Amino acid sequence: MSTAFAPLEIPTEPAAAATPFVGAPRKATTHTSQNEGLIFEKSSPGKKAYRLSELDVPAVDAAALLGDAVRENLGVMPEMSEIEIVRHFTRLSTWNYAIDLGMFPLGSCTMKYNGRVNEAVSRLEGIAEAHPYQPESLSQGALGIMKLLQDCLLEITGMDTITLQPAAGAHGEFTGILMVRAYHESKGNARKTVLVPDSAHGTNPATAAVVGYQVKNLKSNAEGAIDLDELRAAVDEDTAALMLTNPSTIGVFESQVHEIAEILHAKGALLYMDGANMNALVGKTRPGDFGADVMHLNLHKTFSTPHGGGGPGSGPVACKALLEPFLPRPTVITKTDGTLGFDHDRPQSVGRVRMFYGNFGMFVRALAYTLANGPDGLRQTTEDAVLNANYIRAKLEGYFDLPYKTRSMHEVVFSDKLQAKNGVKTGDMGKRLIDYGFHAYTVSFPMIVSGAMMIEPTESESREELDYLIDALQQISREAAENPELVKTAPHSTRIRRLDETAAARKPVLRWKAPVAAEPMQVDTAAKEW
Ligand SMILES: *Cc1c(COP(=O)(O)O)cnc(C)c1O
Repeated sequence: MSTAFAPLEIPTEPAAAATPFVGAPRKATTHTSQNEGLIFEKSSPGKKAYRLSELDVPAVDAAALLGDAVRENLGVMPEMSEIEIVRHFTRLSTWNYAIDLGMFPLGSCTMKYNGRVNEAVSRLEGIAEAHPYQPESLSQGALGIMKLLQDCLLEITGMDTITLQPAAGAHGEFTGILMVRAYHESKGNARKTVLVPDSAHGTNPATAAVVGYQVKNLKSNAEGAIDLDELRAAVDEDTAALMLTNPSTIGVFESQVHEIAEILHAKGALLYMDGANMNALVGKTRPGDFGADVMHLNLHKTFSTPHGGGGPGSGPVACKALLEPFLPRPTVITKTDGTLGFDHDRPQSVGRVRMFYGNFGMFVRALAYTLANGPDGLRQTTEDAVLNANYIRAKLEGYFDLPYKTRSMHEVVFSDKLQAKNGVKTGDMGKRLIDYGFHAYTVSFPMIVSGAMMIEPTESESREELDYLIDALQQISREAAENPELVKTAPHSTRIRRLDETAAARKPVLRWKAPVAAEPMQVDTAAKEW
């Protein structure tokens, strides 16, 4: 096999017990960024990152101006010089794993590279500094970007109309199911249940519940797809919608999606499509053509805008004409005088779901991505994403158990069944992958696969990078057989070893607290006189 990894860089024996983080002696290493203390530990009283010149205007009496709002001391604040601050945060930034550093094999979340052209365009002055309170007459360019993106997304999804407002996938689901509810209500009956397959992303049942529906679970068949008989038995006059992810969360295309739509429509129910996996469909097939009534897209997955770290995201909702009256307010329209504007006069709308008009910067990036690729490029992107997933699948089959033999689309789900015999679980191998310089794949999801190892390479990875990942995972499978302890105690090369995951979730320490004796920092007179 490839000798991509220098063996010396990766520990091949388990280290002694994991070092606890707090109070432990710092690791001796040549890399300064491995030794960074807290900013409070670096502080020394009186240090400043600035010097102001002498006041040459009369001093203002801050107390007279601000009354009670004047703060005499700032609590305990770090005091440092500019270079110390810059170095502190620059060092910390190198502790992040990032898409610009290496591959994220995470499945279900499409972590693809965000082309630099998107950033260049989104930072153009007129775009970056446009203000949401600018009048429509001065916002024709920004409105034009939204309108063009909407038209592109409608062409890609095969839908009739769209809103760009929602700020994430889950927020798009919420908006879409609110619209479904408003639609049924307009016919006199909101209905009671939403069907959700057992392979669904957790946000689907959560969405249905938040919008006031009971969630009815649908069991998948042996291919990981919807069982049509099960569906027929489950749909009745109380069914508001089925929330379907296609391709599903195990990376399998629902080949009977037309029949699924027909079964629902026959009972007056709607087909909601979770479009988070559109990276496998763009340019190849359109949900609007295969019977979906409403869907969301994750611009921050399929359309390459940055992803992770809590946003900003964007989850546009596209739908068929029958749901158009219920779209969030306002919508972007072409007015009678030919200019673009917002339509607020929408009496049946579910209302506003986001301040202003969503995360505009994401629209710019998504549009730049779409136009830079063009129709042929987008289709190629989809084909490359599917090819990459199947390449990984072919190279790792035999090393790991493959619970579903159905052809993979853009992601592949293995399980830890072979390694679990030696006590090595999916989470252990995910952590060991960190020692090989990768972010972990998606661990233990989807839940219908016990010990799931879910991998989605996306189109942005070269064959060389895929080979590095494959090589690492093949080696890990060997380690799991020959030296299970090594894998079970990974990671060995990181600054912090295994966390107590229960305590990290239940008793997280998110904030530094001043030792009781610390002197609060006084507001200095220079600051008082501004
Ligand atoms: C990511 C994802 C979501 C949720 O999207 P967010 O933007 O994270 O809220 C919903 N469904 C599926 C299938 C997803 O992969």
